[in-house]
Amino acid sequence: MLETDRLLLNTQIEKRIRVLENTLSDCHSISNKKQSQAGDASAIFDLTINAFVDDKILSENKLELAQLTTSLTWMQTDDAGVCALCACDIPIGRLKAVPITRLCVACADNKKD
Ligand SMILES: [Zn+2]
Repeated sequence: MLETDRLLLNTQIEKRIRVLENTLSDCHSISNKKQSQAGDASAIFDLTINAFVDDKILSENKLELAQLTTSLTWMQTDDAGVCALCACDIPIGRLKAVPITRLCVACADNKKD
């Protein structure tokens, strides 16, 4: 991987990690929200309906954060940008679009079948 590409991807991943960390630290648990809305039946109803979606987004954010952190570490190694299956160079455009990937397009497509 070119040093310029590595730096570019590092910056991109670090930015995304900061966004995710901010989102996660802003999230109050549903039970806290329910307590603060106690007595407002319609607000509690909304929170209950949204709880499933909130939890899903929260766990997806946590997963992405973990994957991005792993990607940052990977970027510092000699394997950075190399497909984990066929060992070809993953195009920089793909890494920019999907920074958590470890596979080239061909291997990712094969894996789906
Ligand atoms: Zn591959």
